[in-house]
This record gives sequence, C-alpha cells and structure tokens, in this order.
Amino acid sequence: MMDAKDIIKDSVFREISAAADDLGVEAYVVGGYVRDYMLGRPLPHDIDVVAVGSGIALAEGLAKRLPGKPVVTIFKRFGTAMLRYNDIELEFVGARKESYRSDSRKPVVEDGTLEDDQRRRDFTINALAVRLNAEGYGTFIDPFGGIGDLEREILRTPLDPDITFSDDPLRMMRAVRFAAQLRFTIYPPTLAAIRKNASRLNIVSAERIMTEFNKIMATPKPSVGLALLFETGLMAEFLPEIAALQGVEEVEGQLHKDNFYHTIEVVDNISKHTDNLWLRWAALLHDIGKPIVKKFDPKVGWTFHGHEFLGGKMVNTVFKRLKLPLGATSKYVRKMVAMSSRPTALTNENVTDSAVRRLLFDAGDDIDDLMKLVEADITTKNEKRKRRYLNNFKEVRDRLVKVEEEDKLRNWQPPISGQEIMDAFGLPPGREVGLIKTAIREAILEGEIHNDYDAAKAYMLRFGKAILEKG
Ligand code: ATP
Ligand code: MG
Repeated sequence: MMDAKDIIKDSVFREISAAADDLGVEAYVVGGYVRDYMLGRPLPHDIDVVAVGSGIALAEGLAKRLPGKPVVTIFKRFGTAMLRYNDIELEFVGARKESYRSDSRKPVVEDGTLEDDQRRRDFTINALAVRLNAEGYGTFIDPFGGIGDLEREILRTPLDPDITFSDDPLRMMRAVRFAAQLRFTIYPPTLAAIRKNASRLNIVSAERIMTEFNKIMATPKPSVGLALLFETGLMAEFLPEIAALQGVEEVEGQLHKDNFYHTIEVVDNISKHTDNLWLRWAALLHDIGKPIVKKFDPKVGWTFHGHEFLGGKMVNTVFKRLKLPLGATSKYVRKMVAMSSRPTALTNENVTDSAVRRLLFDAGDDIDDLMKLVEADITTKNEKRKRRYLNNFKEVRDRLVKVEEEDKLRNWQPPISGQEIMDAFGLPPGREVGLIKTAIREAILEGEIHNDYDAAKAYMLRFGKAILEKG
C-alpha cells in the first residue's frame, strides 16, 4: 500500500501540522485530495482539512505562519474557513456530528470526533483521513474501509445507505457522478438504496442537482452516468423528458428505436468531438419532442413530425425548471435542437443552392456545431449505411464551404439598411419598410440576385416602386 506520507509531502502540510500542534488541536486531510492522490489522478487544487476543535482557529494559525500571510475567509454560519496559498485552496472545518430530521434539510450540528465527521461523509473513499499532527504524522485513519474500496473500485456509504441518502439525497447524484468520473462500481446494497430513495431527490435544489449532473455530462463517456441515472430512477425525478424517451413500441410488426439509448449514444459521440457542455446538452435534448408527436401511420410506419420544433420549445421549459443559464445559452441549445434535422433534409437529391444558403443563413456561426451534432446523431450499427450517411454530410459540408465562399452568409447582414429604404422612398418607419427589406433578403437567399450592394440597391428600387405604386 502507498505510504500516506507521500500524500502530504507538499510543504504546506508541514505548516498545518505545526499550526495544529501549536493550538493543541488534531488536524487531518480528508476527502477528494486523499482519494485522488491514492488513485494517481491529477491532484485537485482544493484541500479539505478537518480539525478536531475550531477549523477557523486552525486556518488563522496557519495563515500567520505562511509567507505573505494570506487572507482567511471565514464562514461563521458554517464554522468553516478558507484560504488560498500558491494555487491551492485550503478549506478548514471543525469535526462535526450531524443529525437530520426528516422534515427539514437543516441538520442539527454539534462538535464531534473525527469519526463522527467521517461518518457523515458520502462515501468511504471520501471519508479517508490522513493525520497531520507531528505525533502520528501521515497515518491513515480509515474506520470505514475506504482504502479497500479504493482498491476494489467500489462506491459505498459509510453508514447504512438509507440513512446516508435520506440525510442528504444529493448524495445519490454524487454516487452516480463518482461512478461516471472514476468508473467505479456502486456497491449493490448502496445501489439498491438509491433505487429505493430516488424520489427523495425532489427536496434537493435544482442548482445542486445540476452541479453534479453537469459533472456527469463533462465526463469522457457520459452514457455511463446517464444510463445509471435512468436505471436508478433518478433521471425521472429531474429530467422526466429524457426518461420518457426510453421504450420501444410495436405496431403491425414495426418497431421504432429506443430513443433513450439512442440519445445517450449521441451524447457519447458528440463528446468525442467537443468539450462544449452546451453542445453536449443539445445532443441530450435533441429528441425530447419525439414521445409527444409520435404517431403510427400504416403507410409509412412510425413518424415524429415536428418533433424538432416542439423539442426546441421544450428546451426553454427544461432550462427554466433546472435553473440553467437562460439567454444566449438556452437560445443556442434551443436553436441546435430545432435545427437538428435540417442538414439531413439537405442530403436528399436535388438540393438547391438556395436551400444550402438558407441553412447557412439560419445557423450562422453555429453551423459547425450543428454539423457535428447531426454526424453524432448517426447511431446505426450497419457500417455500410453509416458510411453512406457520413458521406452525405461530407457533401453538405463541401457545399456549405462553396456557398460560404461565394456569398459570405455566415454572419450576414442584408446589404441595405431600413434607413436607406426610408431615405430612398421618403417613407416613415412602418410595414412597407419591413416588406421591402424582407423581399431583398429573400431574393438574395433564393439566388435571384447577387449578394452585393449594387444588386440589392437596384432590386430595392424596382421592388419598392412596384409595391408603393400598388399602394
Ligand atoms: P471534487 O472536488 O472532485 O468534486 P470532492 O470529493 O472533493 O470531489 P467536494 O464536493 O469538493 O467533492 O467535497 C469534499 C468532501 O466533502 C468530499 O470528499 C466528501 O468527503 C465531503 N462531501 C461533499 N459533499 C458531501 C455531501 N453532500 N454529503 C456528504 N459528504 C460530502
Ligand atoms: Mg473537492
């Protein structure tokens, strides 16, 4: 086994040790830092220290010893303190004992022993402590078998999981998050308790749930966490729209694909090509309209007409409910979902340049993300078909490049402004100005006239005269 002294070789631990002995309190490193060190993962920039006694006093004692005397930020209400030293953030907390009442999220908190503190942590691998006092410097304190669980790659609660999860149901999300990040197995009784307690997640705030969920979405293979969320029943608690995608229906011997398992595969596919969390979200939500518009047509089989438009609208509902960023972010995801079949429509034969121009105009700068999304959407297991689809999209990409070179439509502003139209015809702001402006834009997108100022101006004069004469 690894010597715990390796974990605390950074000089800052010697200083914490001296400060703790000065004050006569016991001090331990716990949590993510110890865990990630043992796993050989990149070391976190935050270190959690537990003091048996006052965490605030320990932080202040340490600050006095450190060069440059870093500022200590105190959170009186929580009895915690934080300071930054070099590029690390040190978090101090006094050992606590917590008890919860079932009707309240607010625990009754009292001072406790180290073991009390370890007991209230989420998983055994996060409850492992390393002693910092000179006497016993570098000893592991592992009452719940965290080291063994690290070796066996298991997530297990220190207490009866029913107690750990009902005290703070967010821990169920954290179980899935760690399973996805570390690729650990959730210990079967712990997993059973998640299934049993999943509905308790409804007392947890959307913000806390999203912090964990977005960490799952940011893993290299999000389907691992997404499948677990679904199978434990947690997904249905906060994203019922995604849970509803699961299932295959059969009518007259015709099946449609299971859109849940399809969706999480699409999220995996896109995650190979982007770290952009919101493009990953677009992949997650791209089919959410499907269960609602699904119809069986005896002539053509299953149809999902209009699911993209409806799905786009649903993005807003989901973002509001989950307290995700509104504004530019939700607009972007909505646009991706709403446009998620547009490039596919272009792969049919007889596609006109004007259709390509329109796609480019509507997608603007997001066209590359949209192409990534539609390519990720190919989940057929038929290699020949897959190659054909990818080839079709390659053609669309080539045509987009060609049209873009010719027409520069990406961030396009029509060449004639409303003001210019008003000046040319002596018009006040109003309906006619809008009509003329739209007509110019349409003429350019349809390829009736060139995308340049002179052509647009000539067109404006002709068209404007015609409609104004008609009255
Ligand atoms: P990371 O920083 O990678 O998210 P971490 O394990 O450090 O992982 P934090 O959220 O920083 O997670 O929490 C630090 C420690 O505090 C955890 O290791 C765990 O011991 C404890 N902890 C955090 N949140 C909870 C919780 N909801 N219930 C119980 N213990 C928790
Ligand atoms: Mg941490």
